Amino acid sequence: MLSCSSFDVPYFRGCIFAAMDNDLLKNWQKKSGDRQKLYTKFLHRADKNATLRALPDLHEEAFSKIDCLECAACCKNFSPRFKTTDIKRVAKHLKMKDGDLINKYLVVDEDGDFVVNSKPCPFLGGDNYCSIYEHRPTDCARFPYTDEDVLLKRPKITQKNSTFCPAVYYVLEKLIQKGT
Ligand code: SF4
Ligand code: SF4
Repeated sequence: MLSCSSFDVPYFRGCIFAAMDNDLLKNWQKKSGDRQKLYTKFLHRADKNATLRALPDLHEEAFSKIDCLECAACCKNFSPRFKTTDIKRVAKHLKMKDGDLINKYLVVDEDGDFVVNSKPCPFLGGDNYCSIYEHRPTDCARFPYTDEDVLLKRPKITQKNSTFCPAVYYVLEKLIQKGT
């Protein structure tokens, strides 16, 4: 089987790119912090169509290198909104009444949305698995929006997410490299 040391040119080139991608993720939080101004400019000037075309592959690429189970920064530090349909779905799964789920796990935030009442999220296990994964809120399923136009439409949220989610950082860096 060919390996990086086989020096077959296409494979060797692939190894160089893999190494560059891995370098990209080294000290990513520091680099993301240093590049916030660049992200502001990029998010306001990016070519929308070219970005949307590039996102599915970059999203997949990012999550082939990043393991959410080794991170869980989103579930540890932030809450999804629990919309009515989310509450009904999760309550049904847990065989609870909607009101009991609300009383036990949720509070209303300053925007009037139901959010979890503790950090980390009460549904996050010690192994970083979500105990309601198949029934989790839509916000959780969509996060971190790296395959959606939300990435450009909500630049402030994207920038905030880039400070704690390595996938958002990775996708932004790759889009900037591509010059979209
Ligand atoms: S912050 Fe990003 S990389 Fe980390 S668990 Fe959440 S989605 Fe995955
Ligand atoms: S419901 Fe699950 S996926 Fe969503 S924040 Fe809580 S632990 Fe994370």
